[in-house]
Amino acid sequence: MDDLQQLFPESLLRSGTIVMAGPCSAESKQQVLQAARALKDQGISIFRAGVWKPRTKPGGFEGIGTPALEWLAKVKKETGMLVATEVANERHARDAVESGVDIIWIGARTSANPFAVQDIADYLASLSQEQKERLVVLVKNPVNPDLELWIGALQRVYGSGVRRIGAIHRGFSSYGKHLYRNPPKWRIPIELKRRIPGLPIICDPSHIAGRRDLISSLSQQALDMNFDGLIIESHCNPDCALSDKEQQLEPEVLGYILQTLVRRSEKASTESLGLLRQQIDRLDDELLELLSKRMRVARDIGRYKKEHDMPVVQAGRYNDLMQRRVEAAERLDMSGEFMRNVLSAIHEESVRQQLEITTKQ
Ligand code: PEP
Ligand code: MN
Repeated sequence: MDDLQQLFPESLLRSGTIVMAGPCSAESKQQVLQAARALKDQGISIFRAGVWKPRTKPGGFEGIGTPALEWLAKVKKETGMLVATEVANERHARDAVESGVDIIWIGARTSANPFAVQDIADYLASLSQEQKERLVVLVKNPVNPDLELWIGALQRVYGSGVRRIGAIHRGFSSYGKHLYRNPPKWRIPIELKRRIPGLPIICDPSHIAGRRDLISSLSQQALDMNFDGLIIESHCNPDCALSDKEQQLEPEVLGYILQTLVRRSEKASTESLGLLRQQIDRLDDELLELLSKRMRVARDIGRYKKEHDMPVVQAGRYNDLMQRRVEAAERLDMSGEFMRNVLSAIHEESVRQQLEITTKQ
């Protein structure tokens, strides 16, 4: 999949990163143009604005729809910026492409729906070769943390013949109270990068954070993890925005944040980094050895339980073990949640191995 950074050299900021910015929603011609001019002044050359807005509940601002595409065309003409918007079905995609939108993205609710993605992909397949070569299609992660579904949506788009494809990581829906509106679960986009190394991935700290004070640190984290760019919501008067007002930044504030971000160079990889990586490799090997030893003991316990007609899972013992290890991990500066995940994965494999023994005749 093509590298977006090569496709848009003019979009490179000093930090060497693709930056797309603009309001959550296109609300009026004046609001759109004012935001675009102010963002252009901050050195940003890709403008985003939602024309069709998927709302969780009825009654909210659902976007202006097709007429707002004219405002994006005006932004393009007047400022020379590239323009981007979200599409959720074939009609949206058609209207956006026909009005000259440069970049379309498939939103998180839509990429969770293979029928909708396929309909959009079928429309993209009908474009002329020249249109296919020009258009950029970005696929946001589905709202649910399902990497295969995300990859499936990318494959459907790829199948249309469009080649300028990228992914957007915007975090994942969850139940209950969290620091983030959509917790990032970084290991999912990192695994996506491992599975499709050439795919550019852009981070959307606005929808991950849900609040403006977290956007700067999330953006830096994304750059530190080698994301290829950022898409950030920006509005000239965030408090009056018709959608996502808590997370939008004024263009000047965004400009300031972008200047403070540091893009660390991969090329700076020095000898000492190589040595540290060797240490990590050795430690991983030791971990593997230890885990295999632990499984051997677990299988011995399984044989004992079988001989004595005991159940494989003893919840009391497991809870006790979990509690103690989680506390110990926290004393060692690791998160309790991390240790819980590690232990439950180890426990699951021990149980699987013991069950193999106890169910054997
Ligand atoms: C958006 O970008 O404004 C948007 C609705 O995003 P998401 O699909 O990530 O919720
Ligand atoms: Mn939004």
